Amino acid sequence: MFSFYADPAWSHDASHWHEDGLLVVTDGKVSAMGDYAQLSKTLPEGATVTDYRGKILMPGFIDTHLHFPQTDMIASPAPGLLPWLETYTFPTERQFSNPVRAREVADFFLDELLRCGTTTAMVYCTVHKESVDAFFEASEARQLRMVAGKVLMDRNCPEFLRDTAEGGVRDSEDLIKKWHKRGRALYAITPRFAPTSTEAQLQLTGELAAKYPDTFLQTHVAENPDECTWVKELFPKARSYLDVYDHYGMMRPRAMFGHCIWLSDDDRLRMTETQSAAAICPTSNMFLGSGMFDFDRADDARMPMSLATDVGAGTSFSMLQTMNEAYKVGRLKACYLPAMRMFYLATLGAARSMQLEGTIGSFVAGAEADFILLDPQATPLLKRRTERCNSLEETLFALALLGDDRTVAATYSNGRLVHQRKY
Ligand SMILES: [Zn+2]
Repeated sequence: MFSFYADPAWSHDASHWHEDGLLVVTDGKVSAMGDYAQLSKTLPEGATVTDYRGKILMPGFIDTHLHFPQTDMIASPAPGLLPWLETYTFPTERQFSNPVRAREVADFFLDELLRCGTTTAMVYCTVHKESVDAFFEASEARQLRMVAGKVLMDRNCPEFLRDTAEGGVRDSEDLIKKWHKRGRALYAITPRFAPTSTEAQLQLTGELAAKYPDTFLQTHVAENPDECTWVKELFPKARSYLDVYDHYGMMRPRAMFGHCIWLSDDDRLRMTETQSAAAICPTSNMFLGSGMFDFDRADDARMPMSLATDVGAGTSFSMLQTMNEAYKVGRLKACYLPAMRMFYLATLGAARSMQLEGTIGSFVAGAEADFILLDPQATPLLKRRTERCNSLEETLFALALLGDDRTVAATYSNGRLVHQRKY
């Protein structure tokens, strides 16, 4: 059993590891963790004990950027972001004005996340209010800690996906009142990206973010060079792409910026100053050929960051597969990402990026009991490799490079079993 209490990039002593561990859960919350031999003596009479010897128990993964309406178009071929949006994304998202269709996809999407061990995600819906209702109804039925929001988009997109500056913000406010902090739901104000919002919409979005400071905010920034050039044309006075969002008051704690590839050092420092966070999406970035995130420069600026799949441009729902690609992106930028760091970024690091430390991402007493069991013997190759590992770092590295949904033996949310591998 392991979990983090610090960032392994800056602390040699960052994680708890118990060879034979016990996690005590009461009413959906962690009440204690430690060595089985010690802690089992304190269990109350009649406590249910589930034996997962041979598995690795850890906090559930947190995926800080993905699009549930794009589930059915994952792995669609296109030469780059803008043609991919035109050809696949916009026609697909059109279907989400239909609540029945939206609910059916939300159900599949959430079950797929749970199969992959992801217990919290920051999710883009579509421009339609119905898509947000369908998503939160599906996540409430599973008692999941999820963050989501209605996409705001009032220009440079097809008519059938366009809201208006006032209408989009009014719908978002209605949804905040309906869903934010209802059960485990959290709302994210969600302008798609600067090119698809007018200045009037960006202005009103920033005002909404200030009016509801405990909501989240999510958008895309500096994903690929063509998009950056386009933003420069649309906002000639801005210092940079990120500066467009800064100008409208969107950089703040609980703001999550997808990609952050083509940032300047000034931009990175601004992210740190405002406690805005990056959602790094390596499978998507490699798939679309967008570019490679610079982990070392982000660390030089101490920029808050996390890992994300960006499904449907991302090619896997699995955070293990996301780590696999993150590692290779790191190598291509002459950076070295230890497995411990990648697991941190997918758990406690993400929780910190979202200002949710103490609630999710760790086993501190009082944290919500969202946890997973990883199986180092999930496949013949993994079994063979992990039997030869001599440290937790080596084992986690093998799991990150060779693992996927098959590696997740069970997923718990709120202390309840929500997925169990069937084979
Ligand atoms: Zn995205």
